[in-house]
Amino acid sequence: MTAERINGKQIVAELREQISHEVGSLTAEGIRPGLAVILVGDDAASAVYVRNKAKACEQVGIHSEVHRLPAETTQEELLQWIERLNRNDEIHGILVQLPLPKHIDEDAVIDAISPLKDVDCFHPVNVGNLMIGKPSLLPCTPAGVIEILRRTGTEIAGKHAVVVGRSNIVGKPMAMLLLREHATVTICHSRTPDMEAITRQADILVVGVGRAQMIKANHIKPGAVVIDVGINRLESGQLVGDVDYEDAATVASKITPVPGCVGPMTITMLLANTVQAARAASGKGSL
Ligand code: NDP
Repeated sequence: MTAERINGKQIVAELREQISHEVGSLTAEGIRPGLAVILVGDDAASAVYVRNKAKACEQVGIHSEVHRLPAETTQEELLQWIERLNRNDEIHGILVQLPLPKHIDEDAVIDAISPLKDVDCFHPVNVGNLMIGKPSLLPCTPAGVIEILRRTGTEIAGKHAVVVGRSNIVGKPMAMLLLREHATVTICHSRTPDMEAITRQADILVVGVGRAQMIKANHIKPGAVVIDVGINRLESGQLVGDVDYEDAATVASKITPVPGCVGPMTITMLLANTVQAARAASGKGSL
């Protein structure tokens, strides 16, 4: 079997087109969605992520502003920036690019962002709402994965979904969203013995581990749908996922490529969250 390569580019283009229309009609009503991104320090990878996010905003007509602060910015100064943005009516989404310099407490920063503007969905209030199924902004990477599954016609309800990785950004919210879609969910992590025996039961396998090409054909049930969240750079400079694409494609029915699928989808969900937050702030919609 050779798996269908999920066409991330097409899915992303369709969604961004839709978002662009929504931004157009909101702007015509006098509500231009706005995203503020704060970047502290000069981490090269973070700078690239931030640039890509700003570019994506521009493409769909979202107002974006990037505040580049020096590495020696104090926690107090950063909290003051967030407070100003919380009060700014033209800004509907606030994103502080992680990781932050070591002298700043990430939790304190996340807690300071208004949950209504928390487009990353890292704030404990939004994480809690996700857990109990209350409407809220949804975390971008896992929400993007659900959208990919929907748009590829993958049935989730009643299926066994296995998530490899249990981080607060990927694994845990991913499992929650799959559960919300009525999958039976198993989470694997670094202490899971005989992981292969579990991943081989998955109808849907989502991998977010940060280990290049760790998941091989022998981890995959024939016909499974495989979603690779991982982004790893090999010494050669090549970007690869956590799944060995060529090997896995011999067994899976559908598989996402890296790069070009979950990464751009994550940014697209950030745009969607900003629009949703703008709608909610203007009383034209809810979270
Ligand atoms: P973390 O390092 O925070 O979490 C990694 C998880 O993988 C942990 O739960 C860890 O388990 C688990 N793990 C590590 N080694 C193994 C192993 N050998 N077997 C099973 N589980 C293991 O990473 P993130 O969740 O932040 O990111 C994961 C990957 O996703 C990275 O490649 C990252 O670059 C990528 N990513 C991509 C995004 C995108 O937009 N496409 C967005 C965010 C992340 P334990 O908890 O036991 O330590």
